[in-house]
Amino acid sequence: MTHMHIAGSIHADVAQGGPHWLTMPSDPMALQHRLWPEGTVRDREGRITVGGLPLTEVARQQGTPVYVIDEADFRSRARAFRDSFTGWHVYYAGKALLTRSIARWVAEEGLGLDVTTMGEMHIALAGGMPAERLGFHGNNKSLDEIRFALGQGVGRVIVDSFNEIDRIERACTELGAVARVLVRVTTGVEAHTHEYIATAHEDQKFGLSILGGHALAALVRCQSSPHMELRGIHSHIGSQIFETHGFEVAIRRTLRLAEQFRAATGVELAELDLGGGFGIAYTEADSPKTTAELAQAFEEILDHECRGFQMARPQLSIEPGRAICGPSGVALYEVGTVKVVELENGRSRTYVSVDGGMSDNIRPALYAAEYSCALANRSSDAEPVLSRVVGKHCEGGDILIRDVFLPRDIAPGDLIAVPGAGAYCRSMASNYNQLPKPPLVAVAEGAVRTLLRRETLDDMMRLDVGE
Ligand SMILES: *Cc1c(COP(=O)(O)O)cnc(C)c1O
Repeated sequence: MTHMHIAGSIHADVAQGGPHWLTMPSDPMALQHRLWPEGTVRDREGRITVGGLPLTEVARQQGTPVYVIDEADFRSRARAFRDSFTGWHVYYAGKALLTRSIARWVAEEGLGLDVTTMGEMHIALAGGMPAERLGFHGNNKSLDEIRFALGQGVGRVIVDSFNEIDRIERACTELGAVARVLVRVTTGVEAHTHEYIATAHEDQKFGLSILGGHALAALVRCQSSPHMELRGIHSHIGSQIFETHGFEVAIRRTLRLAEQFRAATGVELAELDLGGGFGIAYTEADSPKTTAELAQAFEEILDHECRGFQMARPQLSIEPGRAICGPSGVALYEVGTVKVVELENGRSRTYVSVDGGMSDNIRPALYAAEYSCALANRSSDAEPVLSRVVGKHCEGGDILIRDVFLPRDIAPGDLIAVPGAGAYCRSMASNYNQLPKPPLVAVAEGAVRTLLRRETLDDMMRLDVGE
């Protein structure tokens, strides 16, 4: 694609082979507000400052790589969901990022929390999240996990299979408990960023299919079980979604299912959970709706659809993960090497290697997720050059940021900050190449606190029992 471009903005694909949305920044040191935690600025010395603290100071105290989470920003995003979605239940999806402190923040802000494993349940409870505000998810919950959840008095179990119904009944019989359940259904809607597909195709591991009649059968079975209190239907259509059309189709299909259930049993379902998946800005190409705009769009869809089905509005829930913790987090790396690589067409690309990579952020390698970054320890008036930020792992695909403009004078020892790194980075981290996992620190009012300390070689050697 070639366009005439306005002065000062050279399209990267024209200039050097970057994606069409990436433009040469007119002020390469300017921070794009919507990508960063609220209040992130460059101070007079040009250092990026998050939560009142220069990132150079975080690096000095904690080393690199390090994940930095702005506590006030996290809390205000959690509150925004609670306040905008009035009357709804909001569950924070703990898989996006979970520590004991984070569970406490979520509890203090009045949200519930979704967990999927024994590990997530333990962290959530240890952080002070009341069991009755936990939602227990997963397509393969073990009998032990179900026993533990029900023994703790977990608020609701989101049922995902007939085998699981058997296990819940068994655990309830043993414990003399009654499980409050929602049935997770597949609506045939699959959404990602600006696009969604709504088809009859439900070929995936989660949930029970509406089309195949499995969802209705599961609802009927839960309703008739003495061990379960059936609350309603759950649907989660995808992740990093910007538009509400996919949700609209999912709402229509779940309400139609509720109507079928009513026709079969005479029972009106009390609750509808629409899952999570609300998109955030990772690069300048992303412009997500505000939480208030989302809430308003959902309200309108629900009013319209419930009227259509002549149904009372059920109790509604949502489960944002990324949209709460993603923009609150920044990953900070130190540059180790800079290499200019000549391309066939006479152009060149600058490879900037940092001291982490796919072990601390697998998303670009796993599903081509896009990020952006900025020079964090100083400002520079050097010319911006199209660069690629890569990790230190033994994989050609160990790319953190495929295309970004960085100043030509970037050098070993410089710090690079990656916004949007609060979600699905630390929680998906590995020890590939025997790299210890980076710490997660919270910044608030100019001070740093360690939420997760850095893994050490001693930690790793302790696991390697060597028998
Ligand atoms: C992953 C997940 C979420 C959260 O998704 P985000 O994209 O982080 O908002 C919510 N509900 C369910 C069932 C999920 O699997």
